[in-house]
Amino acid sequence: MKYNKEQAERKELYNKVLEMKGNIRVFCRCRPMSKEELSSGSAMVVDFDSAKDGELGIHVGGSSKRIFKFDRVYTPKDDQVHVFGDASSFVVSVLDGYNVCIFAYGQTGTGKTFTMEGTEHNRGVNYRTLEELFRIARERKDMFHYDISVSVLEVYNEQIRDLLATVPASKKLEIKQAGEGVHHVPGLVEAQVNNSSEVWTVLQAGSSARAVGSNNVNEHSSRSHCMLCIMVRSKNLMSGECTNSKLWLVDLAGSERLGKTEAQGERLKEAQNINKSLSALGDVINALATKSSHVPYRNSKLTHLLQDSLGGDSKTLMFVQISPCEKDSGETLSSLNFATRVRGVELGPAKKQI
Ligand code: ADP
Repeated sequence: MKYNKEQAERKELYNKVLEMKGNIRVFCRCRPMSKEELSSGSAMVVDFDSAKDGELGIHVGGSSKRIFKFDRVYTPKDDQVHVFGDASSFVVSVLDGYNVCIFAYGQTGTGKTFTMEGTEHNRGVNYRTLEELFRIARERKDMFHYDISVSVLEVYNEQIRDLLATVPASKKLEIKQAGEGVHHVPGLVEAQVNNSSEVWTVLQAGSSARAVGSNNVNEHSSRSHCMLCIMVRSKNLMSGECTNSKLWLVDLAGSERLGKTEAQGERLKEAQNINKSLSALGDVINALATKSSHVPYRNSKLTHLLQDSLGGDSKTLMFVQISPCEKDSGETLSSLNFATRVRGVELGPAKKQI
């Protein structure tokens, strides 16, 4: 009975969130200055005076400052535990049968991989999510049985690569629709996971596979979308009712614009594909926000893959990752503007000029 009461309270909370502002939340996270930036005396242009209220200030030259408002603002001091604490309600809802998508967006070097993957001693959203799923599944074991499996893939130049496949795919991986709201990639490896240590092994296997075949791992990963798909099949042991839900955790390719000198050859093609998919993501979210009759999911592999977890009654969490430095302020503004459009709320210039 205790569980039912908790579940009812949680549902009520979610409904309130949906009523308030739709089911997209945007959290902004700013990375710390690097050692090089500190030693070179780089100026910091971001301020966190009202971070507690979800506001972030960015100094845009002279005495002007622009204020952006998000659902959460994290300063460089906020750690992985703090950040995951706020994201964990999205994880719980997967076990309640909702589809969820959590993605990190921003310029290369702003902490997307740090937030999603983290490091062995400072694990990020991906690992913590699965750990939390297992924790709650154990708590509910008398009422529900859950099967949890994981796929890890990357999208590079509009092609899907299975990062858990031990042998290369014999044909191109494509997205198929298996029914209303059920998209999948036939042939993609689904690893069944039963506990957190198995999860870590699978995530590590996915990370190492990303490096295979690329000369520069960091460059390659900044130009591809790394996507983790967690499938949860649940059975209510009282009623026998079964539900499937899907959680996507996505470390997007860097959103930076291409420098003039790089605008050629393979790099140009990569950049065009990244632009295409990130704009497609913006277009899909926009179409959902304006309740457009056509949502252009199929304009990119990224949005097509995420289709079941973007829109409808699914929940979306965007991390917009930013740099605190002046040298990056053009890209920072562009990421903050994109995130503001996603959130659907635009604040004017700050009243108080500094
Ligand atoms: P991206 O994935 O956006 O290219 P990374 O996650 O690789 O960026 O981060 C770039 C560097 O900044 C890495 O060395 C990372 O460890 C560090 N970093 C990013 N965010 C944080 C943070 N919140 N706290 C500490 N270090 C961070």
